[in-house]
Amino acid sequence: MSELLFLKPVFKQMIWGGNRMRSEYGYDIPGDDTGECWAISAHPNGDCVIENGTYAGKKLSELWTEQKQLFGNYDSDRYPLLIKIIDAKADLSIQVHPDDEYAKVHENGSLGKTECWYILDCDEDATIVIGHNAKSHEEMEEMIRGKRWKEFIREIPIKKGDFFQINPGCLHAIKGGTLILETQQNSDITYRVYDYDRLSNGKPRELHVQQSIDTIKAPFEANSSDIQVTESEQVTKTHFVTCPYYSVDKYDIHGTWSNEFKGYFTNVSVLEGEGSVNGIPLEKGQHFIIPNQYGTCEFKGNLSIICSEP
Ligand code: ZN
Repeated sequence: MSELLFLKPVFKQMIWGGNRMRSEYGYDIPGDDTGECWAISAHPNGDCVIENGTYAGKKLSELWTEQKQLFGNYDSDRYPLLIKIIDAKADLSIQVHPDDEYAKVHENGSLGKTECWYILDCDEDATIVIGHNAKSHEEMEEMIRGKRWKEFIREIPIKKGDFFQINPGCLHAIKGGTLILETQQNSDITYRVYDYDRLSNGKPRELHVQQSIDTIKAPFEANSSDIQVTESEQVTKTHFVTCPYYSVDKYDIHGTWSNEFKGYFTNVSVLEGEGSVNGIPLEKGQHFIIPNQYGTCEFKGNLSIICSEP
């Protein structure tokens, strides 16, 4: 009989971070500039430890190599996904990620990065940067080299509950006042093209202008959204995306809802509410993995959860 694997998050302080991880989720954060909570991660820069049960104290990366059956013997040398909460008190740098092919050649065999964002909360007039306004690769390079940021950057309004898929080559940035849940490939490769000329410890942070120009797709094409909502008495399911790396769904549960997750394994993040799963108490801010062939999960209470699987 396998167990649900609850994880202890890893926190990252950032020049743009805040303290909402504590005020919203009650996490014990390292400072008032905590930008990222690596909630389900086996990345060497933040490898989560299992909190409970048989594997308590083990790193997720260790479980991945030692107990492959928990993950249905999924064919990958590393845990394929990374789940984060991001608290942007200030604007993040304008950035882009490479695809697998570019990262493999230029970043030492790393994976590329496809990611997606669920907006947990944001200020009333919040916006987000997705894409750019250059008509061609040439114009994109001219705008970047000429620092024509206002013209170049495409900014759109957002609200709580919005969802964005960010494919490699898509220029993007979170603006201050936004709290998001990010589901991404297990990679830490980011090319920063513009950082609002800010200083970190008295110096501008490194930019990656050439890699950005190599990577940014032009012209920008918005994703066609395939969000589907299905409602029953006990649960509202919102299917956000299926892409080559993951699928992501939100479940809003009211009462008792049983489900067998049939993928290789499933990442679960509790966004709101209170309740239980198979008798284990749940509250917002918890993250766990449902291992392969775990069987039925019986959720009870009022809960919003986001689930992802490779
Ligand atoms: Zn990103």
